[in-house]
Amino acid sequence: AFGRKENKMELFHNQITKAQGIASVRSLYRSNSLYFLAENVSCPVTVLDFPSRKRFIRELRENKYDAVGISFITPNFLKAREMARLVREIRPEAEIILGGHGAAIENIEESIPCDHVVKGEGIGWLRKYLGEDSSKPIVHPLLPTAEFRMTFGIPSGSYYRRKGSKGKSLGAMLVPGVGCVNGCRFCATSHFFGKAYTSFFPDGESLFREMCRLGDALNTNEIAVQDENFLKDRQRALDLLECLEKGKRPFCLNIFSSAEAIAAFGVENMARLGVVSVWIGAESKLDAYEKNQGRDLKALIQELHRFGIRVIVSGILFVEHHDKKTIQDDIDYLIDLEGDFTQFMQLIPFPVTALYEDYKAKGWLDFDLPYEDWHGQDKLIFTPPHFSRAEAREILDQAFKSEFDRLSSSMYRLSSTTLKGAKTLTAYPTDPWMAIRRDQLRAQSKLLRALIPTLRRNAHNPLERDRIEQLNQDYFEVLGKTPISTRALGFAAVLLSEAFKWRIRFFGDRLQPRTIHQKYRQ
Ligand code: SF4
Repeated sequence: AFGRKENKMELFHNQITKAQGIASVRSLYRSNSLYFLAENVSCPVTVLDFPSRKRFIRELRENKYDAVGISFITPNFLKAREMARLVREIRPEAEIILGGHGAAIENIEESIPCDHVVKGEGIGWLRKYLGEDSSKPIVHPLLPTAEFRMTFGIPSGSYYRRKGSKGKSLGAMLVPGVGCVNGCRFCATSHFFGKAYTSFFPDGESLFREMCRLGDALNTNEIAVQDENFLKDRQRALDLLECLEKGKRPFCLNIFSSAEAIAAFGVENMARLGVVSVWIGAESKLDAYEKNQGRDLKALIQELHRFGIRVIVSGILFVEHHDKKTIQDDIDYLIDLEGDFTQFMQLIPFPVTALYEDYKAKGWLDFDLPYEDWHGQDKLIFTPPHFSRAEAREILDQAFKSEFDRLSSSMYRLSSTTLKGAKTLTAYPTDPWMAIRRDQLRAQSKLLRALIPTLRRNAHNPLERDRIEQLNQDYFEVLGKTPISTRALGFAAVLLSEAFKWRIRFFGDRLQPRTIHQKYRQ
């Protein structure tokens, strides 16, 4: 009643691997900003992440709160409105604070009952609101990369556990800063933070210290770096690399970065830094943003693959110049980049962006479309001259399908990329740091090899079947004979994937995040 079934809670299964069936990557993430806010004030706070309506009501009835903060994104408008209504009904004395990207909706205070609307960075605002020193250093919360990760029904922890560590780990999440100076016209994050970058860790050394703290506390070497364009601050990344090598802490990083920043930093340096995956905004061949101008993205991605770095390519469909032919050209272009993953999104002019202002001035925005539909995977928010709404959905679905048909499953692709990296790094025999990186990729390849029987059994088409056989042969060349332990793991993986198919058949494939209830200073 409060959202759309087309807009799933998951990132990958919603807009990246959605056409890949059982091979789709399933993962759930926390609402990180809530934990940042709670950690950085000195009064008692409760975080309630992903509450059901019933759980939210119980929380309000059982506790007396002075203020309730509701953080939401635009498609969750109805949920936020209902939550605010419940606060007014059950705890009328509490002040309501709206934040998150949804707070950027124009005149939001007229449609959702509230006392304050926070646009932009929220920690400083909240500290001021509470009468605290807003210039105090930011305390980073301890957060896992994901709440849950699974493919083929096989749950996965962090591949990059610390040597000798015990217990489950899902990696650590690190936010070095917020915003991006590039200001691409559609980018909600960049515009939300005023097209500026606010750094929480100004130099490589402070970043390194924080990584060690998070890695030690969460028992992991894997860090998901939540920074819009991590390599943009080249010097900080180079200093971090120096600290990692000096401190002998071979962290593995998942990052976001633009092509221009990657080219300036260098792919080999990325391998040294321990980057295992990078999200690159390719956007559209015909709508070249400065970050991509003059870059051969295909060659760049091949080079990243050579060093075992997985690439998530993201593209935007239904921009102004797209007609039936040019949109297909762009879809082909994005698929031909051969990322390990490809995200296709419909162009969304989110409030606060330059694109929104432009389209609004031209009278192109469809304000009759409910905010629940502003998610980029179904209906367009404006009416492009060359497509009907039904066609837009069909073209999007077809893009995901052809990507899967032509490139095979993302699990096959990332397995192949990891092995390529392990092979490349054997060419650095006298470089002890690269030897560590090679061993990390080899260790992961050994684990991924156990997926071969599952990949075979679920191969999407003859092309993928052939690719899997080739990959199996490559494993043999690089890693030797398949050990019995890998065969046993492979057998268990097949059983789990078959069990997951039954689960989908009888109960559907929806995954619901559990409610997290975390108290601070209470
Ligand atoms: S480079 Fe990426 S993060 Fe930066 S403004 Fe452009 S789309 Fe946003």
